[in-house]
Amino acid sequence: MTRYSRKKGNHGYSAKRKQLKMKRRNKDLDEIDNDLEPKNAEHLLNQPLDLDVAGGAQHYCLHCARYFIDNTALQGHFRTKVHKRRLKALETEPYTIQEAEAAGGIGKYVPPKKRKMETQKSK
Ligand SMILES: [Zn+2]
Repeated sequence: MTRYSRKKGNHGYSAKRKQLKMKRRNKDLDEIDNDLEPKNAEHLLNQPLDLDVAGGAQHYCLHCARYFIDNTALQGHFRTKVHKRRLKALETEPYTIQEAEAAGGIGKYVPPKKRKMETQKSK
């Protein structure tokens, strides 16, 4: 053996890591913003029973796009840091094409507004 022994493991690109990353990938903030519209929210909160997802898709957090096993877990989640941070992130309106064009000098720049974000009402 030389002085420099081989490093254990591969810390660079790995297909497995990428695979796991994509598997756990959740909705982006603008997709969630679309879900928050009353029509879509209504649909998401009253989903038919689906045994492939946690809790049969009956306990869903709109803001985090996550399923929970029961109502207790969902209520517990509403009190967590993750959920509160997400509400904060959703307070600013999503980035739009108009905003991008304004940055490029087309049209008038209107700064994104803050809005009030509240936890969904429980059933
Ligand atoms: Zn949440």
